Amino acid sequence: MNINELGEFGLIDRLAKKIPTRNPSTLKGIGDDAAVVAPSEMCRLLTTDMLLEGIHFDLTYAPLKHLGYKAAMVNFSDIYAMNGFPKQMVVSLGISQRFSVEHVEELYAGLLLACERHGVDLAGGDTSASLTGLTIGVSALGECEPGRVVYRSGAKPTDLICITGSLGSAYMGLLLLEREKKVFEANPNATPQLAGYEQIIERYLKPEANRDAILTLREADVTPTAMVDISDGLASDMLQICRQSGVGAHLYLDKIPIAKQCMDMAEEMSFDAVTAALNGGEDYELLFTIPLSLHGRVKDLGPVAVIGHVVEAEKGALLIPPNGAPVRLQAQGFR
Ligand SMILES: [Mg+2]
Repeated sequence: MNINELGEFGLIDRLAKKIPTRNPSTLKGIGDDAAVVAPSEMCRLLTTDMLLEGIHFDLTYAPLKHLGYKAAMVNFSDIYAMNGFPKQMVVSLGISQRFSVEHVEELYAGLLLACERHGVDLAGGDTSASLTGLTIGVSALGECEPGRVVYRSGAKPTDLICITGSLGSAYMGLLLLEREKKVFEANPNATPQLAGYEQIIERYLKPEANRDAILTLREADVTPTAMVDISDGLASDMLQICRQSGVGAHLYLDKIPIAKQCMDMAEEMSFDAVTAALNGGEDYELLFTIPLSLHGRVKDLGPVAVIGHVVEAEKGALLIPPNGAPVRLQAQGFR
């Protein structure tokens, strides 16, 4: 169905029917001039992230539902990285002529699935025609107890550096999708060779913000001293903590967790898996530091690996291979 047939109000009505409200703090969701959120003793965490067609995603291989899911997830991840929980979000869409009502519904299905899984209310939004392609802007509001907010600036020398999950998969997934896109462009009858690489593809197209890790850390009564989510790559995000905390970091290369599919794809493409982990980005794992005295509480937590320790700023931010000379960490970031 053409969006013009429904009009903006018709489209909003149609979408709003499927949108539940689940948090008691959402006093009013979609339907008025603004959403209304109840007053609270909690710190409020507010963040926003925008995904632009041609910059952040390629519709050749990114399904709209996954894209909606990812747009919500990157915002939730930033709230978790402050040690809080997302509660409400609003969505702005810029939609070009080639999209139908069904396309917008697909996108919303992804946004709503993300909200359902993370207990968030989609409390409002705006939809506009776009001349340049698809734009998805999401802003999320979260909360955290005042004493528990974690900044990038709290790391101290001797703290342990920890990471959840594994790194590099999103980037190897992107390289694989780009490779198969080229094959397809050369020969539209070719079948994409993606079997066996579901983990890295899903990591790139449909990442998961790490709510479980935050819950696990709370159960273990561990509040990190500093934390950031891995959006730009381990090197760049570690340097953010170093700069803002005024410290250095020593990371041990053989401790960096890399998933098997990421390793396999890197080998197949003659690409260095460690480079994908350091500079690839978009893994949305949590990088955090804890006091050395809490080692006992995290060492057996499933999804957490200790990969290094914080040192004085003069000792630098270094990656230390098992044999060989340490290498200075450099922020390449994600392009
Ligand atoms: Mg972040």
